[in-house]
Amino acid sequence: MKIIMLGAPGAGKGTQAKMLAEKFNIPHISTGDIFRANIKEGTELGKKAKEYMDKGLLVPDELVVDLVMDRFKADDCKDGYILDGFPRTIPQAEALDKALAAVGEKMDYAINVDVPDENIVNRMSGRRACVGCGATYHIKYNPTKVEGICDKCGKELILRDDDKPETVLNRLKVYHDQTQPLIDYYGKAGIVRDVDGTVDMNDVFNAILDILSK
Ligand SMILES: [Zn+2]
Repeated sequence: MKIIMLGAPGAGKGTQAKMLAEKFNIPHISTGDIFRANIKEGTELGKKAKEYMDKGLLVPDELVVDLVMDRFKADDCKDGYILDGFPRTIPQAEALDKALAAVGEKMDYAINVDVPDENIVNRMSGRRACVGCGATYHIKYNPTKVEGICDKCGKELILRDDDKPETVLNRLKVYHDQTQPLIDYYGKAGIVRDVDGTVDMNDVFNAILDILSK
């Protein structure tokens, strides 16, 4: 089973990807992990990627696809995998499809975890992080015993810049411009399945399992 997770940043697709990976015993693949592993092991692809990253440049799509295709060859991918955070753009999706087609493969599902922007902004702006130990909380879903104080170390909690509404809205804009078109792209291939991401994460998970069982 080869699955691509789609959805806005903060929609919870990473959490779902993890749950699915565990359930089906297939790897949860993110390009960040692939980059780190290849750079650490000093592979040829890793060295190439590092050259771009050291210069502060984006790793070109072709190289990312080479790295991803190389990862798919690993033994743990024989029953499938879950791609999370890649592809992010239409050119990346096209390059990946082409590389998969060249080895006689294709993606089976693109699961779109659908959450309206305002829900995402609300979720993110409720997050709090401890300045001492880095523990994270949520004022509504995972509150501390004493407001504004870390349960673990007693230090102060802050709203990180990353979680501030203006930052979240910027990320959502990039998502709508570059990544949301993938829903149409994979829709044309007939593999998109939408799930309501606003409900409890276990209900989202069950909805996905239901889709995959059909
Ligand atoms: Zn703390």
